[in-house]
Amino acid sequence: MISDHEAMAMARGEAKAGMAEGGEPVGSVIVKDGEVLGRGRNRLRQDGDPTAHAEMEAYRAAARQVGRSHAVEVVESMLHGATVFTTAMPCEMCAGAILRFKAPRVVVAEVTSYKPAGTQALMERQGLIVDVLDDQATLAMIEDHLRAYPDRREAHEHGDDRPQHFRTSRNCVAPVVATGTAC
Ligand SMILES: [Zn+2]
Repeated sequence: MISDHEAMAMARGEAKAGMAEGGEPVGSVIVKDGEVLGRGRNRLRQDGDPTAHAEMEAYRAAARQVGRSHAVEVVESMLHGATVFTTAMPCEMCAGAILRFKAPRVVVAEVTSYKPAGTQALMERQGLIVDVLDDQATLAMIEDHLRAYPDRREAHEHGDDRPQHFRTSRNCVAPVVATGTAC
């Protein structure tokens, strides 16, 4: 049985491994019934793959771990109900996966280094519990990362480099993006 603290430490370990590889320091762990189903880290820079976010990698690892002897429908059902631990607030893609796999809860280490558009509100509106830990160890890790890669600091502080009309406030949800309505 893994505690929240232990799970986040594991996610942070994944993030640090990614940082050591020259990647973005984001890590994630998928936990169900107190057991770790999978863990992953952002491999965007390492693989040149924009979909290789930590949460997606953790879900993939979980699917591989449970998937060998099961039909894919069974694998998907096994991912349902798992809690997601992540060192940064999930982006739209990962929040979509989290909703699809019916996570009851997302635990986020800190929300100052990455500010995706409205995903916390989106998940909360779907009934998820989003716990933000204000984890000082993660904040220190991010600062180390930005000292090592000062050229990435502006992107971190800017938070979201998509056009303004794609951004939504914390209280807006996805349909606003489709209509382009400012809010
Ligand atoms: Zn993501």
